[in-house]
Amino acid sequence: MPPHYDTIIVGTGFASAFFLLRHLEYASPDAKILVLERGRLDSKKWQLENRATSSIPAHNVFVNKNLDKHWLTSPGFGGNSNCWWGGATRMMPGDFQLQSRYGVGIDWPLSYDDLEMHYGVVEDVMSVSGPVDSPMPRSKPFPQPPHIFSDPDARLKKHFPEGWFHPATTRARVATASRPACCASGVCELCPVDAKFTIQNGLASVFHDPRVTLLLEAPVDGIETAGGRASGVVYRQGDRTVHAEADLVVLGASALFNPHILLRSNIQHPLLGKRLHEQMPVDVCLDLKGVKAYNGSTTISGNGYLFYEGEHRRDHAACLIETWNAPFAYGRNAFRSERDRWTERVFMRFMFDDLPRDDNTVTVNAANPQLAETRFNGYSDYALRGAALIPKMVETLAQALPIEGIVSVLTGATTAHIQGTVVMGDDPASSIVDRHLIHHQYRNLLVLGASAFPTAAPAYPSVTVSALSLWAADHLHEGQA
Ligand SMILES: Cc1cc2nc3c(=O)[nH]c(=O)nc-3n(C[C@H](O)[C@H](O)[C@H](O)COP(=O)(O)OP(=O)(O)OC[C@H]3O[C@@H](n4cnc5c(N)ncnc54)[C@H](O)[C@@H]3O)c2cc1C
Repeated sequence: MPPHYDTIIVGTGFASAFFLLRHLEYASPDAKILVLERGRLDSKKWQLENRATSSIPAHNVFVNKNLDKHWLTSPGFGGNSNCWWGGATRMMPGDFQLQSRYGVGIDWPLSYDDLEMHYGVVEDVMSVSGPVDSPMPRSKPFPQPPHIFSDPDARLKKHFPEGWFHPATTRARVATASRPACCASGVCELCPVDAKFTIQNGLASVFHDPRVTLLLEAPVDGIETAGGRASGVVYRQGDRTVHAEADLVVLGASALFNPHILLRSNIQHPLLGKRLHEQMPVDVCLDLKGVKAYNGSTTISGNGYLFYEGEHRRDHAACLIETWNAPFAYGRNAFRSERDRWTERVFMRFMFDDLPRDDNTVTVNAANPQLAETRFNGYSDYALRGAALIPKMVETLAQALPIEGIVSVLTGATTAHIQGTVVMGDDPASSIVDRHLIHHQYRNLLVLGASAFPTAAPAYPSVTVSALSLWAADHLHEGQA
């Protein structure tokens, strides 16, 4: 007989860890919870020695059929929290209501207000540093004080007080019990001082709860079903194939691997694996006259909301701007060559929300079904129309910044935010999970994470992913508290 658990959770990234955090608050003292993680525990020490965040290369887990478009994943305990940039922006209220406010895209089946309280909990757990003012409504202040602006950010804030903000980031401004303050040294992909929140440094305790059995190097191949319910999972351990049963199955394997697992389980839906998307990134490099950049206190030193919310969203994509305070990312163009003027140059990333397209997909690789496969045929016209307005946007920024010239405007290969593929909605015909991330057909199966996002937002996804997991766990246990 296969072993039986109350709950089986797949993955140990943001989606699973925040779900488990709340689930444990409700679970009985004798609950049996199995967590299956495909990767290893690649400790910070291992990461620094190997200058990598995962010991499993991406090509061991998926095939990318369009190499111009990158999708990034870091398999292992803690998921992408090991490699993420730490950006912790909430979505704006309008991101949830594109159709009803602006007549484009589709509305999410829940609102900003539904998530507001959960956002606050996530920010506390991650100890987020953020602005004292805020572009979106908040019921409480950020747990950490804001970082220091770079000089270009300070000018932009002065000129556009309602449009420019300190970043919401998990790169600590002041030390926490487990993380030192950000050193802004520019080696940010590894974060050698461990200043940014990761599951390893901030939420590993939930996996050590006595009710939880965590198995590493245990990739899940499929979900088993019987009588209209999910009955358990099948996973591998070494050469063995193992079956395990559960009353509740929770997928938190990311927008890349949730659809892969569901497709391999023959849990079909016409939209499954479709609408793969992320923000369209455009990197803009500007030369400044007499204003020095790169002097903020963390890797991204400012966020511009000037072109985010508003009636323009009826016609073209909204945009969130990042000021980059870490020149390494831009290689040889990072600095000017003139004596005494080498930091009079600013890099900004403009991120536009994309309207998901059905022809951008995750499928199962035919040659090796253990690999997911991505296909990307392009961004929506909506996103492209937004990006075409960058010269005008730069003209607006020039009201605050002495811009000497535009050095380059380049579309980036990725924002590293994989979204869509198992979309949520109220109607089972046009969505796969409901507003509480419960599968419409298999009511004891939850599919967590950014796979549920029906539309993109210019904002980063992970605090929303985490807040959604709290919201889903609360709903599951409604009336039980
Ligand atoms: C370089 C980079 C920078 C980023 N920066 C930011 C940022 O600044 N801000 C932001 O909000 N977001 C950022 N992101 C995106 C962010 O990492 C994701 O939104 C987030 O990780 C999604 O959480 P998740 O738990 O759904 O997925 P993941 O974090 O990917 O976790 C999924 C887990 O499932 C496991 N898994 C997958 N398949 C299986 C299987 N078959 N069996 C068992 N386990 C499996 C994986 O190993 C992993 O542990 C960044 C991403 C990258 C790659």
